[in-house]
Amino acid sequence: MFTIGCHLSSSKGYAHMAEEAASIGANTFQFFTRNPRGARAKAIDPADVEAFHERAQEAGITTILAHAPYTLNPAAAKPETRQFALDTLADDLIRMENTPHQLYNMHPGSHVGQGAEVGVDLIADALDQVLRPEQTTTLLLETMAGKGTEVGATFQEIADIISRVTLSDKVGVCLDTCHIWDGGYDIVGDLDGVVEEFDRVIGLDRLRAIHINDSKNPLAAHKDRHEVIGGGHIGLEALAAVTAHPALRHLPFFLETPHEDVQEYGEEIRALTAAREELL
Ligand code: FE
Ligand code: FE
Ligand code: ZN
Repeated sequence: MFTIGCHLSSSKGYAHMAEEAASIGANTFQFFTRNPRGARAKAIDPADVEAFHERAQEAGITTILAHAPYTLNPAAAKPETRQFALDTLADDLIRMENTPHQLYNMHPGSHVGQGAEVGVDLIADALDQVLRPEQTTTLLLETMAGKGTEVGATFQEIADIISRVTLSDKVGVCLDTCHIWDGGYDIVGDLDGVVEEFDRVIGLDRLRAIHINDSKNPLAAHKDRHEVIGGGHIGLEALAAVTAHPALRHLPFFLETPHEDVQEYGEEIRALTAAREELL
């Protein structure tokens, strides 16, 4: 079983995303909870959620991944910027309970010159304020490329955040192949070594989702520019090996590659599936 999908626009609601996913042969999808720049979220329509559950069942969709606006920064220096992040995260986690037992991914944040240690503390502090014992959602911290002052470009920083969170059983990790490659983890030359390092530093039990992207830049570029599968420096074979790796192959995979049209994701899913099968 290969759980594979892509990022879809949420502007037409949940049921529409399930239909769109099914139309390209996907059995999962990712979406922004609101405008990626962080505007106010539209109210969730219970009829749409009900229609979504029906379509999802037909399409074999059991896991979905929400993505927080990428402008949120719980590690900001300005208190009002941190407060905006807290308010948005808290609101998103309440909204997530309309679709219980799903995944919610966020970029940890940028320390904006305060230093990674301060950043780690601020992010853990924010999670302590928004996570609730009764929530069914797992919040994922995404591994980052290390662009600017991003926190979470090393497995150690992600592990440090998690170790400081009180309700850490609500926290997992989303690994982005473009980001870790740009961050200096050589998944082309030594995938086993990278997986072992993840397990040693964070623990593979924390890993809940993978963003499967190629990169426009060479190893350790710290850039974060996604490329279509096979069009970048990681390549189709190495990315197929990620999807086929015994420690990873059960996870849901999400394409965040640059495409104009959703149908192009369908072609990418077919190419990746074929390359994966050859390795299994
Ligand atoms: Fe992301
Ligand atoms: Fe990503
Ligand atoms: Zn990215």
